[in-house]
Amino acid sequence: MGITVSDSGFNTQSAITEWAAAVRTSDGWVLVSEPTTDRDAAEDAVRATENAVLISHEVTDWQTVPELLPPTLRASGATISRLVDEEEQAIRKALERGANIAVSKPDKPAERVLHRIGCPSLVNVLNREKAWTSWFREKVLTNPDTRPPMPDFRTRDDAEASLAGTRQCSTCEPELHGATRSIRSVRADGLGERHLGLTLSTDRGTPLGVIADIRTHTSANEQQRWGAGHVTITTDRGTHDHAGSDRVHLLGTVSPANIEGREQALRSRLGVE
Ligand SMILES: [Zn+2]
Repeated sequence: MGITVSDSGFNTQSAITEWAAAVRTSDGWVLVSEPTTDRDAAEDAVRATENAVLISHEVTDWQTVPELLPPTLRASGATISRLVDEEEQAIRKALERGANIAVSKPDKPAERVLHRIGCPSLVNVLNREKAWTSWFREKVLTNPDTRPPMPDFRTRDDAEASLAGTRQCSTCEPELHGATRSIRSVRADGLGERHLGLTLSTDRGTPLGVIADIRTHTSANEQQRWGAGHVTITTDRGTHDHAGSDRVHLLGTVSPANIEGREQALRSRLGVE
């Protein structure tokens, strides 16, 4: 970290490096500690000052410190940690209140989307450490109100009562306002490991159980009986045999267990329940 200011003919081989804490303002960089050759002292000054960064140079004229370049342009780790803590505290409180629906883009009604808390698309939003990408860490220096997107949290009842007509996520399918999970039709011999845990259904969407095992068989005997091959699908409710070319139906694209597992992981990370 730090910068080196190029100078006019200074002999860098015998240069003395000086350190200081600096803060970026709309007018450029301002030193907030006296330049010193004692780097530890300068680092102490950085820690003591909000949004300060450590800068260094090898020339004597501190008046000419120019506009610096990243990576020194980010909010300090301490500042971000504090914001992350506050935001995760808000998420914790929402979960403790029984929230299980997240509304993304809460401030833009036309773009709002309803999600289950365990939606895969929310992983990097609900982990605020990750939500604060370097872009936001830089941006917050010049605009202290900058925050990475944060959803609104609702209980299912509350979302049912107040958010009718809001778009629902096609990945986690929260099944609000009478919506049901999408039905996908796939060829039986196209089933594989990634479909384990999904719900097999009839073509009308009646659930036939959660898929626990998929086996594709090909043998001379079966060739006659089943054609090119046949597929045995075992769900927690029974076994279904199909020719490889049959269409079978699945509910949703992500298994409920997968979504619940992610919500549970968030809850335990935040110490809820
Ligand atoms: Zn979703």
